[in-house]
Amino acid sequence: VISLYQRGVASLERIDEVINTKPDVEDGNVIGHEGPMKGKIEFKNLDFGYNGRKVLEEINLTINPGETIGLVGQTGSGKTTLVSLLPRLFPVNREQLFIDGIDINDWNLHALRRHIGYATQEPFLFSDTIRANISFGSDDIIESKVLSSSQAAALDKDVDSFPRGYATLIGERGITLSGGQKQRTAIARAILVEPKILILDDATSAVDTQTEDEINQRIKKVLENRTAIIISHRVSAVKDADVIIYLKDGRIVEKGSHNELLASDGYYAELYRRQLLERELEVIA
Ligand code: ADP
Repeated sequence: VISLYQRGVASLERIDEVINTKPDVEDGNVIGHEGPMKGKIEFKNLDFGYNGRKVLEEINLTINPGETIGLVGQTGSGKTTLVSLLPRLFPVNREQLFIDGIDINDWNLHALRRHIGYATQEPFLFSDTIRANISFGSDDIIESKVLSSSQAAALDKDVDSFPRGYATLIGERGITLSGGQKQRTAIARAILVEPKILILDDATSAVDTQTEDEINQRIKKVLENRTAIIISHRVSAVKDADVIIYLKDGRIVEKGSHNELLASDGYYAELYRRQLLERELEVIA
């Protein structure tokens, strides 16, 4: 009993620590702007760093409502950091980032996040049903929405093959999803909330190229009236974007459409040529 008690106390201390953690970013006493949101994003001379170490420098970028932006660049160039500022996961300086012309610090935090769908490379799924996992972030579970967002993420066929469909449990007590299936669940989750800003952060890195092409096709309709930022290591995922940004050491070094960037023959063109070659080698193999 004493050992059980001690373990319980230790656990309680850890739980207490989590519950009492003060977030870095909070609303404070003001209510803030609640929307509705159109989805215009403006970075104005934005600098950002972690613990004094600069990661983003002089970022100037305007994204109009409904536009799709492709974001590429080497690992560590600051892509994830750049998009994580949109839901204010970290404190942002005033006068550097605006949504619909309103300083991001003046948005109500809950409303701001409510309008942003964010699928990451390594999503967190709960030991619950697929349905509940896809609906996470939404106030209630609407079956038709679960189905349509799952279709857009090319997850529907996989779920149909599971023993209990959308009621299938995943995690410790249920089935184990592959990396690609987890990522597609996260994409479906991000789409389901019908966000004004959709962020896909390398969200298809574990998906095979054929399925990725399928997602790219299906997601086009979802992107129509939303602002979207797609981060990817693969040119194939960003080449149809309205504007492609190449980030290097925290700075925007190239910006333009796929054809414009190929014509200017810089980093992006080099990346494109390399991946074209890789795909050809894959076909031969
Ligand atoms: P990318 O998405 O292009 O790979 P990241 O934005 O993840 O780049 O990282 C940019 C730089 O910031 C890297 O040097 C990384 O180590 C650092 N970094 C990322 N997240 C954090 C964090 N939470 N705390 C401290 N440094 C971080």
